[in-house]
Amino acid sequence: MLNLVLFGPPGAGKGTQSARLIDKYNLIHLSTGDILRGELKAESPLGLEAKKYMDKGELVPDSVVIGMIEIKLDQNSDAKGFIFDGFPRTSAQAKALDELLEKKGTSISAMLSLEVEHDELVNRLLNRGKESGRADDQNTEVIENRIKVYNNETAPLINYYDAQGKYIAVKGMGSIDEIFDNLCSSIDEIA
Ligand code: AMP
Repeated sequence: MLNLVLFGPPGAGKGTQSARLIDKYNLIHLSTGDILRGELKAESPLGLEAKKYMDKGELVPDSVVIGMIEIKLDQNSDAKGFIFDGFPRTSAQAKALDELLEKKGTSISAMLSLEVEHDELVNRLLNRGKESGRADDQNTEVIENRIKVYNNETAPLINYYDAQGKYIAVKGMGSIDEIFDNLCSSIDEIA
């Protein structure tokens, strides 16, 4: 199986690139942000609980997102592999993911970390906010908080995957096509 963690700060292009990568490599896209937004739209109890955190740019509790991923892994037991987008975001999530995959006899193949400058992230998020109407992309304070939460709580996972020899830095500046090519070159080296 090819199991990729597509890593990077909010606005790095994880969603955009995942959509292309799943076609090329025949993988299942698992985005905890997308799943949470789906729950929110359906006004489920989980969605309404998650909204409190999402509106502020804070992380939803680990137990909630780990449970969501476990369900999705079980629902896709015949998959050729997965792209994890926006997950894991904490070391508890990373450890839980390793354990869930181990139970299925597989593991993470690589963590591809998109590197993008701060001002470019903010610009991309504000543009996406205008186009999509996503509330957390329209407020500069919330955007800055999401980047801060990423730097404090999520970026340290680079060390976690580096220690396993799985961390790959990928240039995330440039056009969508250029970034896609950068990602594919890295994947083709390990696949
Ligand atoms: P994203 O679409 O990945 O930018 O996620 C949007 C929001 O959903 C985040 O700001 C968090 O509030 C929440 N979220 C998404 N994925 C996770 C996760 N793995 N752990 C905790 N919160 C998450």
